[in-house]
Amino acid sequence: MRKKVVAGNWKCNTTLQEGVELAVAVNSIVAEKGAKDVVVVLGTPFTHITKVFESVDNSRIGVSAQNCAAEAKGAFTGEVSAAMVKSTGAGYVILGHSERREYYGETSAILNKKVALALENDLTPIFCCGEPLEIREAGSQKAYVIQQLEETIFQLSESDFKKIIVAYEPIWAIGTGKTATTEQAQEMHKDIREAMAAKFGADVAAEISILYGGSCNPKNAAELFANPDVDGGLIGGASLKAEDFIQIINAY
Ligand code: PEP
Repeated sequence: MRKKVVAGNWKCNTTLQEGVELAVAVNSIVAEKGAKDVVVVLGTPFTHITKVFESVDNSRIGVSAQNCAAEAKGAFTGEVSAAMVKSTGAGYVILGHSERREYYGETSAILNKKVALALENDLTPIFCCGEPLEIREAGSQKAYVIQQLEETIFQLSESDFKKIIVAYEPIWAIGTGKTATTEQAQEMHKDIREAMAAKFGADVAAEISILYGGSCNPKNAAELFANPDVDGGLIGGASLKAEDFIQIINAY
């Protein structure tokens, strides 16, 4: 059975102290209110990972980086390698987020190097894909997203592919308050799963968690997560408030 996953993406928000406070609050609400069959992940800035990891119950809450370097190590000032991320206690790394693709020029070739290094270092990539508004308006979203996957994680071996979590995040819904409808989310998740099945077989496709991301909040999470091919969420803004985040976790 594929896992249900709710992962927060804090982006470039919170000081270390605020981040630890948020993690402690999420941790105590998770302990109190359950969420036992949901994998909860906090995607924090690099600077926070170790402290956040030490502040939460690691059997209930995983910690994720939001990026890692495309090189293993060396003279790459300012970069943080996958091995460094792993050494903090993190178990996950968000890769291919549209903000990284758009603002930092992350191409499929760069992402392939990052995914390979993440996997070599035993980190689970939460691999993002999703179309911009003009592609949605032209009705070409399926071809666009499948191509993003074909150029990247569909190149992996079957055993590596099985370690990936996919996040479908329509760019027009990220941080805009405009959520994909439940039908739009299910349709794309189903298309992604069918493409996975065509490439790796139905059994493999059935085991991969596909998360929805894009203005998911306590009000719309239950409806989105009720879709058969939606296995949780990658949550930006709403993951910065512990109470909102736990309501999303408990939306299943
Ligand atoms: C994200 O950036 O991954 C995201 C889904 O953001 P938001 O929930 O704020 O739209």
